[in-house]
Amino acid sequence: MRKFMVSWLLIVCGFTAVATTAATDKIEIQVGDTTLTLYAQLENYEIGSQAIIDWVQKSATIVANYYDGFPVDEASIVLDGFQGSGVIAGRAHGEPVLQVIIQIGEYVSQKQLDRDWILIHEMIHFALADVPDKHHWLEEGLPTYIESISRVQADDLPEKFVWKGFMKNMPKGMPLTDDTGLDNASSIGRMYWGGALFCLLADIEIHKQTNNKFGLRDAVQALVNNNLTMDKSVSIDELFRVADAHTGTQVLSDLYNQMKDEPADINLKSIWSELGINYNNDTGEVSLDETAPLASVRQSIVSP
Ligand SMILES: [Zn+2]
Repeated sequence: MRKFMVSWLLIVCGFTAVATTAATDKIEIQVGDTTLTLYAQLENYEIGSQAIIDWVQKSATIVANYYDGFPVDEASIVLDGFQGSGVIAGRAHGEPVLQVIIQIGEYVSQKQLDRDWILIHEMIHFALADVPDKHHWLEEGLPTYIESISRVQADDLPEKFVWKGFMKNMPKGMPLTDDTGLDNASSIGRMYWGGALFCLLADIEIHKQTNNKFGLRDAVQALVNNNLTMDKSVSIDELFRVADAHTGTQVLSDLYNQMKDEPADINLKSIWSELGINYNNDTGEVSLDETAPLASVRQSIVSP
């Protein structure tokens, strides 16, 4: 979540000022070579300060695992506590400093921390440079997709759970009648899940073209390695040029050209079938077919 939450922005401004008062704890959390500075009024959390610190550490470690190192050298994580429970919203920004601000209730439970996806999603925003507004689908699609995949890779979520979630949610990103492509997407579903669908299609295609040597993970790692992180700005063409060069393909550039200004011809059912992901209508569960044509691609996508 970035540019849409105007009311949240107002809260953020107020909170940034609060974060510097003496009552706010400042804790440094090390994730590999990265130092994350956590600002929070930890004594207010019923669950205890260590559980909160562990949640930040775990989320950052999942992101670092996906990117082969946390995407930026330093950033701050600001917890905006409120009288309630749950992790309910977040926002990442690259200016004036790399920072994630999270709204988290002071009665948050361990279960809610374990299930939280928002902090991971927001941290993944650090790993992508700022692109012009019309590509907001990419800025939201990447975290939406990578949050799930990175958690499977880190053994934080079961693989079937994630595919089941994708089967349920990816249709929200499909083009509707009169669609004019991802760069003109206006609905939240088309942006977040249309962007995630773009990522899935790219991930599959990179794996196919490179015989599972590379995937989307390698492509986005190349962006970080070329310093194209959230505190920088770049054109989408340059972004995809750098990412494609690393995998020796044209997958991202070609897919973007197919999907940017017209509805692409996508058959989700055949994608799930080829990957070997089957949904059982009677049980509501997903089963995996390891003999499916692209089963090796699916395995490679989620492998640690
Ligand atoms: Zn977001």
